[in-house]
Amino acid sequence: MSHAARSADFIRAKVLDDKASGRATEIRTRFPPEPNGYLHLGHAKAIVLNFDIAREHGGTCNLRFDDTNPDAEDQEFVDAIVEDVRWLGFEPDAVLFASDYFDQLYEWAEQLVSRGMAYVDEQPAEIISAQRGSFGKPGVDSPFRDRAPEENLALLQTMRAAELADGQAVLRAKVDMAHEVMTMRDPVLYRIRHSHHQRTGDMWCIYPTYDWAHGLSDAIEGISHSLCTLEFEDHRPLYNWLLDATGVDHPRPEQIEFARLNFTHTVMSKRVLRRLVANGMVDGWDDPQMPTLRAARRRGFPAEAIVELVRHVGVAKTNSVVEIELLESFVRRQHNRYALRRAAVLDPIKLIITNWPVDDEGNGVVEMVDAINNPEDPDAGVRSVPFDGVLWIERDDYRAQAEPKYYRLTPGREVRLRYAYFVTAVDHVVDEDGQVVEVHATYDPATVGGNAPDGRKVKATIHWVSCAAAVDGTVHRYDRLFPESLPDAHDPEIALDARRTYGAKLEAALEDVEAGDVVQFERVGYFSRDVGDGPVFHETAGLRDEWAAIQKAKAKASQIQS
Ligand code: ATP
Ligand code: MG
Repeated sequence: MSHAARSADFIRAKVLDDKASGRATEIRTRFPPEPNGYLHLGHAKAIVLNFDIAREHGGTCNLRFDDTNPDAEDQEFVDAIVEDVRWLGFEPDAVLFASDYFDQLYEWAEQLVSRGMAYVDEQPAEIISAQRGSFGKPGVDSPFRDRAPEENLALLQTMRAAELADGQAVLRAKVDMAHEVMTMRDPVLYRIRHSHHQRTGDMWCIYPTYDWAHGLSDAIEGISHSLCTLEFEDHRPLYNWLLDATGVDHPRPEQIEFARLNFTHTVMSKRVLRRLVANGMVDGWDDPQMPTLRAARRRGFPAEAIVELVRHVGVAKTNSVVEIELLESFVRRQHNRYALRRAAVLDPIKLIITNWPVDDEGNGVVEMVDAINNPEDPDAGVRSVPFDGVLWIERDDYRAQAEPKYYRLTPGREVRLRYAYFVTAVDHVVDEDGQVVEVHATYDPATVGGNAPDGRKVKATIHWVSCAAAVDGTVHRYDRLFPESLPDAHDPEIALDARRTYGAKLEAALEDVEAGDVVQFERVGYFSRDVGDGPVFHETAGLRDEWAAIQKAKAKASQIQS
């Protein structure tokens, strides 16, 4: 989407208004992840949006860790998140932590208490929750609600001094137990957690809640626009109430909500992803099947493709689901332009050319043929690959008996071996299980380069690798880990057999592909070289643009309807 089109969305319009009215002189945003897991594709939307808006206005965007929940958080996640944001192509103006504001937040909490705007509640969590009422039904005041400020202050100090156990007391804002927005019914600001925090260690045993920490952290950092997803809409009145109550607004941040990015065949809740990792249903957070940015990177999704897709989808105020095929289509478009073409035979059988010439010692002659590196990029040039009389071809490119419309090799049929010669299948050899292991064929020397001088045509071109020159590799292809198009967000169906692994025969040049680089296996798809020893490749995307096919089918269906 163009810059002009992007400037039309409701957030950008608001930012422009705020600049015009003088409410915001500098545009400052932040991306605020909780370090309790790895970033996923959905986070890319929040990242792109926050950084883009700041940059469009010469402003700043912080990476701020919302690290107020020590039980679930870890330094491992902090490091990974910093790295993933950079990988996407964004450099934070500052990397900050809500935990750095714990002293300041506590000071403000004491002020609220002193002014009678917060109180310590010693009831158990279940009672507090039951007293909140429900939508349309007002809550019930806590018996501690009207305790004197001095008493509350002393109790808060007791909480902080580690004199109470987890769950024995909480600090609550004194807002309105009958408020129509539930989050306004005396929300909890601090809870007791005798937990070790990855940054503050054992300094604290009370931790601020999201609501208490978030808006004030925004204010501390001078954030002008606090962009978050729609589920925080109900927290906005409280966000504003707390800014008013503490009086910290220089300049006052404003919360604006936007719709989450969702994809078909994808679940992005960290809770679900954590469970997949913990149960060994995937190999880790960076298993190429995962919807994390790590996994996307390992699988060969270029950061540019993800960013481009997010910009293309744009921002909206209603939740919607984007077809995962659209992301794959952006990925494929990138690789089609830049990926080198190579030959890989995933499920190999031998093709023996019976009339191939031999030298004086009886060895098959080796001929070098030119293969095009990338037809989309003339500068990519050609490479020379060895061709001889004993080759690997795909099992699926041969049929003992061809079904209708099968145009590839079958006895008596002539096809093209890409860049080399026309060959005609004669017969084959099977193993004890009746599986074809070896196909015999003859070649026509006049078709050198893959074209017949008499102009005769073949209906199929197949790829091959010389057996003598091939290297062994491992290739993983992937079906959908979440087979349902709209999986349950909390308890999705999981396909445990979504990965298919092949012992492949690879063209020798594939040994030299750098980890993380993507190549096109001709006629198969795009594949990314894994880190580690030996050639291991993960499927990035198939060759066919499934998204285009889906759009075509949809257009057809609506034509029939009208
Ligand atoms: P999860 O669903 O993975 O638990 P979360 O909201 O708990 O996500 P946070 O670390 O709290 O994850 O999120 C950091 C920021 O990213 C928040 O501002 C959140 O609104 C935003 N975000 C999370 N998921 C998405 C999504 N699918 N689309 C857009 N923004 C998202
Ligand atoms: Mg969250």
